[in-house]
Amino acid sequence: MIEVQNIYKTFYVTHEVQALSNVSHTVKQGEVVVVIGPSGSGKSTFLRCLNRLEYADSGHIFIDGVDILSPKTNINKIREEVGMVFQSFNLFPHKTVLENLTIAQTVVRNRSKGEAIEKAMHLLKKVGIHDKAEVYPTQLSGGQQQRVAIARSLAMDPKILLFDEPTSALDPEMIGEVLDVMKTVAKDGMTMVVVTHEMGFAREVADEVVFMDHGMIVEKGTPDHFFRNPESDRTKTFLSQIL
Ligand code: ADP
Ligand code: MG
Repeated sequence: MIEVQNIYKTFYVTHEVQALSNVSHTVKQGEVVVVIGPSGSGKSTFLRCLNRLEYADSGHIFIDGVDILSPKTNINKIREEVGMVFQSFNLFPHKTVLENLTIAQTVVRNRSKGEAIEKAMHLLKKVGIHDKAEVYPTQLSGGQQQRVAIARSLAMDPKILLFDEPTSALDPEMIGEVLDVMKTVAKDGMTMVVVTHEMGFAREVADEVVFMDHGMIVEKGTPDHFFRNPESDRTKTFLSQIL
């Protein structure tokens, strides 16, 4: 479903920052990959390259067989297939919860209003907030807003969902409800790439864990491998700091 081959990404601000350096990774359909690593290690840049929010400088990225770095590839098409959930929810503040879930369905997916509402209500039920369809995002808790954001992504029927630290902005008591929704989405077979510091989630849900440092993938393996006998010293040091 995702094939990343030798990608590089450099940012120039006051000086050159090599955000990604020769990163390669494959994600099969229905797999859940958890990406971990210290701040600044390139996790967000890696995710953002997968839906071309960032354009990799070199290398190849294939999404379901489509070369997304090809100039011929329609960027809007990619974004329809690859959904993204951010740390900061990013809901439309002046639209109700229901409108947040229906707009893109009608505009991008060409669904009728009725169809879009039906799908939206089904998904709101799934994430446990169908009684909040008519309220505005600011009237919801952070955990509820993030569940709406996940439902909104799902409404587009993406092939892949990317999550960039989806629980990092939440009060501790709301983290569990968002992780539970993500677990349900994973069980339903969604292909997911999740950047998170929630090691319980990684252990329970991930098919593969990827550890990044300094723009490179240092180590990858099953959760069992990672949490029982990581090989690299850098992985060990990182895990000892967060576990
Ligand atoms: P992480 O998500 O692991 O914290 P990022 O991918 O956000 O790491 O960042 C990797 C490196 O790239 C960091 O040094 C960061 O400062 C730099 N970087 C990321 N995005 C930009 C940008 N838009 N402009 C300049 N530098 C950036
Ligand atoms: Mg980040």
